[in-house]
Amino acid sequence: MAIEQKITCDVCGAERKEANHWWMGEAGNSFSSPKFHEWDDILVATSIHICGEECAHAAISAWFCQRMDARVGAGRTRDETV
Ligand SMILES: [Zn+2]
Repeated sequence: MAIEQKITCDVCGAERKEANHWWMGEAGNSFSSPKFHEWDDILVATSIHICGEECAHAAISAWFCQRMDARVGAGRTRDETV
């Protein structure tokens, strides 16, 4: 009996079904810029799971906000970072 791994979108929490229109994003401390690639079962444990374009946009937006907050935290105002 095979053990099936439940995979959910790391943005919205949707569960992955049979259709393979999902994407993967690079995770971890090396996430210095948003990088996405096609689904690869080998990389499931080390990647961010994205269910579609809308969640990819949300992930990119979150990345921009995180980076802007880091710049503001480093002493710059938001206006200086534009
Ligand atoms: Zn999603």
